Amino acid sequence: MKPPVRTGTAALLILSAGILLLRADEKPATITLPVRVHLLQSAKETDLHTTLTEADVRRVFGKVNKVWAQAGIQFRIESIGKTAALDNAPANKDAKDRWVTDAVPKERLATNALNVCYVKRVTPNGFWTGKMAVVKDTAKLKEIPGGIDEPLPRVTSHELGHALGLPHRQDTTNLMASGTTGFALSAEEIRIAREHAARRSSAGTGEKTGGGKQAD
Ligand SMILES: [Zn+2]
Repeated sequence: MKPPVRTGTAALLILSAGILLLRADEKPATITLPVRVHLLQSAKETDLHTTLTEADVRRVFGKVNKVWAQAGIQFRIESIGKTAALDNAPANKDAKDRWVTDAVPKERLATNALNVCYVKRVTPNGFWTGKMAVVKDTAKLKEIPGGIDEPLPRVTSHELGHALGLPHRQDTTNLMASGTTGFALSAEEIRIAREHAARRSSAGTGEKTGGGKQAD
């Protein structure tokens, strides 16, 4: 009496294939973007001098990719380099974005990858200059229930959100709120970020398709 078993098996196989197809439909393709990481170094300006190591950066990006997995976006580290800050940087720390931007040698910036630059102390925790994400390694956040367990992956993910065209949204549990450990993205934010990421991915450039400058 084997035939009924075979029919049952065939039906199960067809059902499983159907479920697999459905799952494939639900989950959009992952978009992977390259990132060049700059560990800014300066003997003169201790506020610019990060003490993060390559191992720290890899740990941080492991968590950044967990945050961005909800949007099907992943960041691949192209390189992690110690970048010597330019000495002629203006000392006007109030103009924080210019201060850091001017301290990073232009030739070190990737044109075919997103640039993320770690420093020691700036106000606030980080910002997106329109050309690079700047994150201070001493970042502090307001902890919220269910939030991420350390500030750096959250601040890095937040600034990369700006790079992908996302503005602030002050809802404590979400990634684009200012200064909290929240990391949720709305369906609309995922749509916008994926659109930007896809454009960056096909353009192969780190600059021309980015979101506007954001101060934190
Ligand atoms: Zn922001």
